[in-house]
Amino acid sequence: MVVINDDIRCNVNNFSKGRRSKIKYIVVHYTASPNDTAEGEAKYFKNNVIEASAHYFVDGKSVYRSVMDSDTAWHCGANFYYHEECRNDNSIGVELCCKKKNMTSRRAEDKDWYFDEDTIKNAAKLVKYLMCEYDVPIGNVIRHYDVTHKICPAPFVHNEGYWVKFKDKLRGDDEMVTETYIKVNGKDIKIHRILKDGKNYIDIRGLENAGFEVGYDAGSKVPILNNKVVELGVKVDGNDKSVEAVNLGGSNFVKVRSLASAVGNFDVDFENGKVVVRTK
Ligand SMILES: [Zn+2]
Repeated sequence: MVVINDDIRCNVNNFSKGRRSKIKYIVVHYTASPNDTAEGEAKYFKNNVIEASAHYFVDGKSVYRSVMDSDTAWHCGANFYYHEECRNDNSIGVELCCKKKNMTSRRAEDKDWYFDEDTIKNAAKLVKYLMCEYDVPIGNVIRHYDVTHKICPAPFVHNEGYWVKFKDKLRGDDEMVTETYIKVNGKDIKIHRILKDGKNYIDIRGLENAGFEVGYDAGSKVPILNNKVVELGVKVDGNDKSVEAVNLGGSNFVKVRSLASAVGNFDVDFENGKVVVRTK
């Protein structure tokens, strides 16, 4: 499970408040700082004005959200773009902490940059979550390199296969069924959820437990979802009667016709989109 740490926020001079465009892309970066940690990076971007930023920093142990998704981080801006659409305005920037074999040189051109397997795993989980959250297709998960041709993230630019392997982890082939809860009228109802191709699916039978009536129309071959009709006890002039009701948003809605027959002194009709009440 990836727990996103929100404790260390980026310095306000390193990003823009708000967004001018909807989130469409997720851009992957490397920090270019060997043996760093997500926490260390988050602190650095909090304590220094460098006019650059990223939404997330990931290492093998943790994920830090430095800039809120609803704000614009400055992570892939440039004077010239190789990507026709992806910009800071419509993307989320994810920085992966990195390692290097030979520490005497730290040039992006060096071929010995790499990521810890746990960093890759956490980054994949985070990116999958973001894809799901913002409906970003896998084709829109790209490298900083794809936007500006900067050698970033170096391990994924020098080795295309390494990048392809990372992207494979984002596919739904290994989709997992997880137990989760949905809130229905403020009550937690347990359902099964499948994450596939960056989208959430819940099993329709699980909705039965959530108080819906699930049927199947054999003719049109589509599932039917209705609010479950419940019997509601009412007192009419001191006599116990029952009416039909559905519960929506925590309130009971009594069927007018059912109430009419319980009370007995009025009739209900439906004409031209209007409920017509006739007293007897
Ligand atoms: Zn970058």
